[in-house]
Amino acid sequence: MRKITLFCAFLLVTAFVQAQLPALERVEPSNWWVGMKNPRLQLLVHGDHIANRKVSLRWPGVHLQQIHSVQNPNYLFLDLSIDAGTKAGVFPIHFTSADGKDISYSYALKTRNHSTGRAQGVTSCDLVYLIMPDRFSNGDPSNDKVPGMRDMSLNRDSMYQRHGGDLQGIIDHLDYLKDLGVTAVWCTPEIVNDMPRASYHGYAVTDHYRIDPRYGTNELYKKFVDSCHAMGLKVIKDVVHNHSGSDHWILLDPPMKDWVHEWPSYTQTTYKDQTVMDPYGAPSDRKKMLDGWFVRSMPDMNESNPYVQHYLTQNHIWWVEYAGIDGLRLDTYPYNDPVYMSQWAKDIQAEFPHLSIFGETLVANTINQAFFTQGNTVHRGLDTHLPGITDVQVKESIYESLNGDFGWSSGVNRLYTTLADDFVYEDATRNLIFLDNHDMSRFFSMVKEDLGKFKSGIALLLTLRGIPQIYYGTEILMKNFSNPDGKVREDFPGGWKGDRANKFIESGRSATENEAFNWIRTLARYRRSNAVLQTGRLMQYVPENGIYVYFRYNAEKTVMVTFNSTKKDAHVRTARFEERMKDLHTAMDVMTGERLPAVDDISVPPGAVRILELHP
Ligand code: CA
Repeated sequence: MRKITLFCAFLLVTAFVQAQLPALERVEPSNWWVGMKNPRLQLLVHGDHIANRKVSLRWPGVHLQQIHSVQNPNYLFLDLSIDAGTKAGVFPIHFTSADGKDISYSYALKTRNHSTGRAQGVTSCDLVYLIMPDRFSNGDPSNDKVPGMRDMSLNRDSMYQRHGGDLQGIIDHLDYLKDLGVTAVWCTPEIVNDMPRASYHGYAVTDHYRIDPRYGTNELYKKFVDSCHAMGLKVIKDVVHNHSGSDHWILLDPPMKDWVHEWPSYTQTTYKDQTVMDPYGAPSDRKKMLDGWFVRSMPDMNESNPYVQHYLTQNHIWWVEYAGIDGLRLDTYPYNDPVYMSQWAKDIQAEFPHLSIFGETLVANTINQAFFTQGNTVHRGLDTHLPGITDVQVKESIYESLNGDFGWSSGVNRLYTTLADDFVYEDATRNLIFLDNHDMSRFFSMVKEDLGKFKSGIALLLTLRGIPQIYYGTEILMKNFSNPDGKVREDFPGGWKGDRANKFIESGRSATENEAFNWIRTLARYRRSNAVLQTGRLMQYVPENGIYVYFRYNAEKTVMVTFNSTKKDAHVRTARFEERMKDLHTAMDVMTGERLPAVDDISVPPGAVRILELHP
């Protein structure tokens, strides 16, 4: 019923939009580049009865191959091909009515920016810091409320309303992140979410080509990326293929009936990823999982529609080339059309060979995660070309190691087992590993605010294989459970002018907070300057009596990590690790700088992780 009402609303709004619609409202992508690997480009043109006009253009090397009229006469889709060697420049695209009236759009084909340090990829050499822009820092109070937007709320006491954080606030604190040892910044989506309520999270896009004016402008986003690069920081953009906001401008005047998946009545996804991989699964279950709507306000994009495919792929290419983004995080990966996503990854990587990509896969076990990764290592019959995923199995295993009791498959044995399962991946070092994020209870709360466990969890995260990610505020012990989500999306204290505390500076933090901050900083900086923790090989030993030992090693260095998951002091005899320790008889404690004249017997306090750089 709800869906029928919505469809009627579409018709009403359509009529309204048509009455207001300019003869040429927009062309997307608004510009493109010469020298792309893919010579084809499909322009979406929106304007009042634009389909009734004739289209023409003249630019050497650019060919208008096909003009598509669709169900809604307010759209045209233009297929262009751009020859190799075509010169950059601006040319008019003419739209001429039957009575000879001409309107035109100046289309720019720009030169690609091949400078080094753009689209460079985020790898296991990096440490990622995840930020929700609305909740980190308000660097520009003048954009807190933007007239004309559907949600004009501004209330820092409400977890559902806008708080005013923005891109300028992040730019203002890049030195803080650099100091902490971070090397890459991932923001939850910054593009427009002009939704009537709870629009701050960014996952309900209403305009794919525009930064939300409450965060800044497209130009400021580019400046943000440039500023990061100038400081040696990389940038990850969070993109959503699966759904858009129900107030997306296209959905208010849809080009065709199947731009999004339509159901006879509102049908929500089952969130059951097993239906995608289950050899015994019912096709109807699979369809519901893939084509059902994420929530009512986020309609499910029809990714088997070629117009939608071009629209999304070109949008992502546009952002990377426009701003020089280094990596993409793909939201709700398992919910997408697998065939399209495979092609998408190939198309993106053809244009940006170093760009890194990881998909959000919050699924039940390692096999389910590996199913979505590239190399078809699980005999799926399709190569996803997806290098990495969000490795929630490592997260769960670290929690079990910190909170569980040691047993055959419990406690730290769970972490050992999870890593042993890495044989199912083409390359597990491309997985993003983490302890929490914007959808999860905060790490400090999940270890019952035990600072010892906090330190051990961080030590494991920053020494294991993969790309470690920390969530903003972890370093100052921000806490809370994700019930509801807003509880784990609180403002970073000091990010707003007039905040009572400023935890961006040492004197604003408590002694305990500084202990946590310094623990992360010490290890992050060590990791940043020691390739052994970035790309060194991993060797692990079967845990014995709750003691878990692994090594990271390369030709230059060997680092030994010992986790005492028991409640008693441990003395670890190291003869068992001879194959990794021969000729290495002394050590330096990475966290304290202490020199150990001998390493035959290593003491580790209860619950602690000891990280030793081994020396001859
Ligand atoms: Ca602001």
